[in-house]
Amino acid sequence: MKKVAESPASPARGAGPARWQDQLRAAYRSLDALRALWPGLRPTPAMREAERRFPLAVTPYYASLVRRPDASDPIFAQCVPAAGELLAAPWASRDPLAEVPFSPLPRLVRRYPDRAVLLACDACACRCRHCFRKRVSARGGPAVSDAELAEVARFLRANPSIDDVLVSGGDPLLLPDARVAAILAALRSVPSVRVVRFATRLPATLPMRFTRALVRLLRPARGGPAVFASVHFNHPRELTPLATEACARLVDAGIPVQSQTVLLRGVNDDPDTMEALCRGLYHRRVRPYYLFQTDLAEGIEHLRTPLATGLAIMERLRARLSGPAIPNFCLDPPGEGGKIELSPDYVVERRPGATLLRNGGGGRFLYPDPVPCPAPPDGV
Ligand SMILES: *Cc1c(COP(=O)(O)O)cnc(C)c1O
Repeated sequence: MKKVAESPASPARGAGPARWQDQLRAAYRSLDALRALWPGLRPTPAMREAERRFPLAVTPYYASLVRRPDASDPIFAQCVPAAGELLAAPWASRDPLAEVPFSPLPRLVRRYPDRAVLLACDACACRCRHCFRKRVSARGGPAVSDAELAEVARFLRANPSIDDVLVSGGDPLLLPDARVAAILAALRSVPSVRVVRFATRLPATLPMRFTRALVRLLRPARGGPAVFASVHFNHPRELTPLATEACARLVDAGIPVQSQTVLLRGVNDDPDTMEALCRGLYHRRVRPYYLFQTDLAEGIEHLRTPLATGLAIMERLRARLSGPAIPNFCLDPPGEGGKIELSPDYVVERRPGATLLRNGGGGRFLYPDPVPCPAPPDGV
């Protein structure tokens, strides 16, 4: 029998170690460390101040995707501190989605009757410069304990209307396999939990994490809750052979994979890039699920786009892509509002008896209301 490598494939030359634990050990954790990789990098005092406020971490693998080590590179812009992080916008918040006041337990956020978010750990493989939960990654606290998991299970049993638990953090799949197994076991012990969604950026930043052992552990058991992966790709260049293999292993194991992309200025805020990303995800059986407007969180104002940018991109995606390749464009308003979906407005004018519509190609169509007719008889 052919011997199967434990990691998906060997990383490309220069991408660092093949084992995920070694990638984490070799991660770059300062601008000075990155200068060893990119001798041309010249950190400015503002970049150093941004690094002090929002610490940096980059895996060798993710750093190897950078082609030009400056802010015009879409990978560099997502992982290297920038002067723009010091911009003080009046609306910038540490907790833009008001998660803290909506936490019935320290580890649990509940905004909807039927869904809850479990914050399993604080750590991530890469610290995304656009993270809206910097308050969590900066905390650097311990992973969820067995006692906390028991408390979460107790809460879920007492609130059976919650049928869907999103496991997030930090990145929950950065935890050792045994901890991931403990989280799953706790959630599977609650009969009313029918879906478990793991939110993870690791297919983009540390794809060698998706070992056969991890995927076997995540695989849904017959009769047990469905398991989904909510991954996070922002640029087509992140769709490497290793990332492709990580996603394929998940889908092959019966774990639907969907991507939550963040719209970022200078990274993916043009229609060509977004179309290529969504198309690339779709070809890999990854469903583009959300395109998120950047949140009003501290330290990310320089990456935010006007709403018009996202709406123009959505119009282009609708005109060019297959339906399942088109994400939902959403924003989280400040505070407790929950997600709001936005879409281009195709209604030009409402007239008596008809609506004037346009399509993405500039055509106009008058669509009539039904001809007045008697109500249908009973029973039809
Ligand atoms: C985004 C979010 C969810 C999940 O929303 P879906 O639209 O179901 O993906 C659940 N809880 C909170 C607090 C959220 O922010």
